[in-house]
Formats: sequence, structure tokens, C-alpha cells
Amino acid sequence: MALKGHGNKEIVERVISSKSDARAAVKGLKQLAVSGRCARECIDIGYGFFTPLEGFMNSKDVGTVCEKMTLADGTLWTIPIILDVESGEINSKGIKAGETILLTYTERPLAILEVEEIFSFNRNKIAEAVLGTNEEKHPGVKMLNGFKDTFIGGKITLVNMPQFQPPFDKFWYTPKELRKIIAEKEWKRIVAHQTRNVPHSGHEWLMKGAWFSANGELPVEKLQTGVLVNCIIGPKRAGDYIDEAIVLCHQQLHDSGYFRDDIHMVSFALWDMRYAGPKEAVFHAILRTNLGCTHQMFGRDHAGVGSYYDPYDAHRIFDRFSEEKLSIKPVRVLEWWYCPVCGEVTYSGLCGHDTKVQNFSGTLIRSMLTDKVKPTKLIFRPEVYDKVMECADIYGFGSPFCTEKYLAERQPVFILPPL
Ligand SMILES: [Zn+2]
Repeated sequence: MALKGHGNKEIVERVISSKSDARAAVKGLKQLAVSGRCARECIDIGYGFFTPLEGFMNSKDVGTVCEKMTLADGTLWTIPIILDVESGEINSKGIKAGETILLTYTERPLAILEVEEIFSFNRNKIAEAVLGTNEEKHPGVKMLNGFKDTFIGGKITLVNMPQFQPPFDKFWYTPKELRKIIAEKEWKRIVAHQTRNVPHSGHEWLMKGAWFSANGELPVEKLQTGVLVNCIIGPKRAGDYIDEAIVLCHQQLHDSGYFRDDIHMVSFALWDMRYAGPKEAVFHAILRTNLGCTHQMFGRDHAGVGSYYDPYDAHRIFDRFSEEKLSIKPVRVLEWWYCPVCGEVTYSGLCGHDTKVQNFSGTLIRSMLTDKVKPTKLIFRPEVYDKVMECADIYGFGSPFCTEKYLAERQPVFILPPL
């Protein structure tokens, strides 16, 4: 049975898994080394995370994504997926439309690219259309401004399988693998929780609340709704939680029984955040559709940064798309907080003690963890606290947050083996 992803298109899988076939396919090809972002996106495209994309976008797709939030064929799409290259390198290697080249990463073969179009595109136009600004202080604008001057569009096929390193290897599933697992678990509804954080109690209740929303009227004798934690793994900035702690602490909530074994699992996806607020929320929904999710929760200021977007723009944008355009359903959530009058973690849509409540402050939690002060269990589960501290020792050079040392010396998330 064909597995349907975004746009009701079959899940893409463009992978040559036989090493001898791969070696034959790359023989004699011109080589082009790609950035970490493009390497991650090659992997995403090859395994179908970006279904229906089969490669990096041509100018027509980039144009319609900017102008109409669709691919050229009308499929909803909000973020351009671009392979950027120096024009000098294209010229010196004599790369031309119509030929097939080899993309390499960390000096190893990664994917072959069927060059369809070599083009340039106004980056300011992309920034204004997708991010709503071209101010350099917006991290998505900064990323775009760092793109090389020329783009190459064309289909890619992975020729070398990334080997995910511990602890990530246990959490890596391709869209096809995830769908198989979902079928085995007999989940009818799957609600995605996107995260780049170690979970505090507010996050835990966010997931629980979304589970209730998604489960709705289904029978309860055998639960048929699952939470899929899908961590975003990409470039880090100093002060972010270390990647290892994010995946392992979510798994700890599961292992400690805060989520039943049969209704929750942890996974991740490779993605370099653009901080495009509402447009990125739609992109995340597309990604989770391809993972097999039926619902995704969107909290306050999803994928936002600074004050570029209204905190609930990422809720409202979903009003614009029919189920035909976007099959996944958004679960829109307000904030969870701790209320001393209620005596519990509760929901801002329910609790009437709004002058007495304590919001989950990232800054406060950060300073507690930095000072090794164990927060109360109403803020942080003790098992999660112990795990985040263990991760700091094992992976973080003593800190649960990215330091310059971690950024320079950490183990890579994946490596490419020799072909
Ligand atoms: Zn209250």
C-alpha cells in the first residue's frame, strides 16, 4: 500500500542502499562539497521528510513559495529548500544544467544531484516573503544572507546512509519506518510535539493536554492515540540545551512512567530553524504529516523570535487552509502554568488566578540548572533533573547548555562512512 504524505502524495524515498550500486552511480562524477544545512536537507529529502519534494527547489518553486505559499504545482509549501553554491565554484568545475554531480559532506559521498537549473534569486525578496522582515538581527535573515550567491535546483538521491551516533541512533526513524511503528502500535491518531527543549512540567502538560484533545471521542478500552515527540536537531547556539539532553530527557519522562509505554515515543528530525513564526509552523505541520502524524500542537509563539510575530499568528495561519491542502490538524494551545491557589500545574484557559500564578520561566529554570539547584517536582520531574545533569557530565563538558567547548568539540550527530 502506498504511504501518503503531504499533499496526498506518496512518501518519497530516494536512496541507493547497495554500496556497490552507489559506488557505480558516483563513479567519475564532478564533486561539490555542501554545507551542514544542505547535507541535513539532502537526508531529509532522500528519506521523504520533505515529501513531495524530490530535490532542491528550482526558481519556479522558490518563486511560488514566496508569492503564494505553494510549490509550482499548487501544493501548500512555506519555506524554500535551497542548495546554495558559489558561482565561481560552478564555473571552475564547469557544472551545467542536465548533468549529474556528486554532493559530498565531511569529504565523503552523500548524494547525487541531477542538475536541472542553476539560478540566482533575490535573497531580500525571500526574507521579506517568508520571514516578514529583512533585518539582519532576525536569525533567519542572517542565515539567508549567509547563503552563497547561486542556487542549484534538481533531484537528489542519497548514495551513502548517515550513521547516527549514540544516543541519537536510538531515536532516528525515517518517515517510512515511523509509519510502520505507528501501524504496529495501532495508533489511529498521532499528535506531534515539536521541541528543542528539555521538558519541564509545562511541556509535559502541553503534551498531555494535546493528547486529550486529539483522543477526543475515541474509545478508551484500548487507547489509540499516541504522542510523537519530534525533537528538532540542527545547528546550536551557545546557551541552547545540548542535543543529547533534549532527546534523553524526553525519553526519561517515558521511562519514568509519566507517559505510558503504549501512548508515547521520542524521535527527532534534522532541521535548521528559520524562526519564520507562522510560516514555519505550517512547514512543521507538513513535516509531521510526512511522519504520519494526524495532529500537531502549536503553543505560544511557535518558531518565533523576538517580537517579529504576534504570539498567536502561528495559530491563526491554519485558518487559511482546507483539510485538502493540509491534512494534519493543529491543536492550538495557550500556556500551562503553576498556580499556588489551584495547587497544581494548570492551564491558562482554565485557571482564574492569573494574578497569582507562576509562569514556567526558561530563564529561571536555566539559572537553577546552571547553579545545580534541584527545582521542585512541580517544575521539573526529579528523574528528568537527574538525567539532564548526567547528560551535562557525559556529553556537555559539565554543562546542560551549549558552551563554546561543546560547540567546538562535541561528537557529531551523524557521520558518513566511507563508500
Ligand atoms: Zn489557579
